Amino acid sequence: MGAFWGKLSENRCGVLPPKQEMNMKKLLIHGGLVVTGNHVAQYDIVVAGERIHSLGVAGEFSPDDFDETFDATRLVVMPGLVEPHVHFDAPFMGGTTDHDMLTGTKACAYGGITSVISFSNQPKGASLVQNVKDWDEKNRGRAYIDWSMHSLVYDASEQTLADIPELVKMGVPTYKCFTTYRHSERLLDDDSMLLVLRATADSGGMLMIHCEHDATCEYLTRKAITEGHTDWIYHARTRPARAEDIAIQRVVDLLKTVPAPVYIVHASTAGSVRIIANAQEEGLTVRAETCTHYLTLTEELLKGENGYLYICSPPLRTERDIEHLWNAARLGPIEVVSSDDAGLPGEMRKQLAQGRFDKVPSGMPGVEPRLTLLYSEGVKKNRVDFPKLVELTSANPARLFGLNHKGSLEPGSDADIVLFDPNVEWTMSASTLHMNTNFCPFEGKRVAGKVKTLLCRGEVVLRDFELAGSPSHGRRVFRKLER
Ligand SMILES: [Zn+2]
Repeated sequence: MGAFWGKLSENRCGVLPPKQEMNMKKLLIHGGLVVTGNHVAQYDIVVAGERIHSLGVAGEFSPDDFDETFDATRLVVMPGLVEPHVHFDAPFMGGTTDHDMLTGTKACAYGGITSVISFSNQPKGASLVQNVKDWDEKNRGRAYIDWSMHSLVYDASEQTLADIPELVKMGVPTYKCFTTYRHSERLLDDDSMLLVLRATADSGGMLMIHCEHDATCEYLTRKAITEGHTDWIYHARTRPARAEDIAIQRVVDLLKTVPAPVYIVHASTAGSVRIIANAQEEGLTVRAETCTHYLTLTEELLKGENGYLYICSPPLRTERDIEHLWNAARLGPIEVVSSDDAGLPGEMRKQLAQGRFDKVPSGMPGVEPRLTLLYSEGVKKNRVDFPKLVELTSANPARLFGLNHKGSLEPGSDADIVLFDPNVEWTMSASTLHMNTNFCPFEGKRVAGKVKTLLCRGEVVLRDFELAGSPSHGRRVFRKLER
């Protein structure tokens, strides 16, 4: 018995308070195989109002005592997924991403996600704090599930450095910067990075970092264009694995001057996980995620006529990288798998690209397929077990991003619960998914497993594979990081 279940049994009670005394809706999920980040067992779960009330041995509770019961026989019951990396409603190179809060959280629900964190893009120079307030206002009543946001940091101006502790106080303790995109004024140089790291360490925040070495990518891109190489595959060749590895190593080296919590977004190379593991061994607080597409797709897709649809940054890599990333997800240092959902309509991408790899707005949709793909490619292929899948998609992102009542089935946690049917086999396609796009990067792929029912704070969001929730249910979660 792990600590989790030791604690659980203390809180467990076979006898429920009478219905009238509880004065809140009571639900029972019975007969399922319960999977958490460190355990698999047959348990029945009692939900009272918005929280998990207790867990008991199968058959312990009488269905008559509940307002509603869910038969989870032959289903897997796990904590609702936490998706910490999407770009909803993001302006990009003259377009806007496929999903906004309404369509994005709907797609999330079908993917078993009960909390999502998106980036609140602000124009350069604008107040980070005001932008968060604007997002709160704009997204009220437009989320099927709970949500939060990360800010974006483009500079280390006085305004930005003053905004960072304010963001932390507002429950938005994470924000991302870039080591690339100098051309669009988003690159944070070393001088600025050190100042932002200092502000992060002082305020209790965590800096997320997009790592690609800008000079390497820019040099190779200019060279390719000059030599007349404009095909989609040159996106991968001009943003090579070593550009990512250089940038991550640089961040690690800067942390030796200013130690602060950092989170490397979308690590995609075999080398990146080695560098991060070494940094952790030295005691530096570097955490890392990879994304579903880096675990399942390769750069070969960029060689096709429709290669522009698969352009993302960092680019898709090779089979060898995929195997290293799965190992790192199983054994560390990868702690989270996100989707980095950031597609733009295909037609718009084609128009903006004008046949040139370097003009394509990068990013792919992927918020809905994440759980099914990780089950099909990970659990079914014995690359990770089910508890590890829950850690990577739910328990760890909840802990790292300070969603303190999420990612757990412990009594007292929010009743965010997935009833996952591992027995359904289906073909993944834009037409079988519910994302706001006609492009699916995994089109035609045979997969196993689908979310049957989803609860978010005790409310049914998905019932028998269909949307049953309301966009007035989702709330912004106030996040606070462990120090
Ligand atoms: Zn992203």
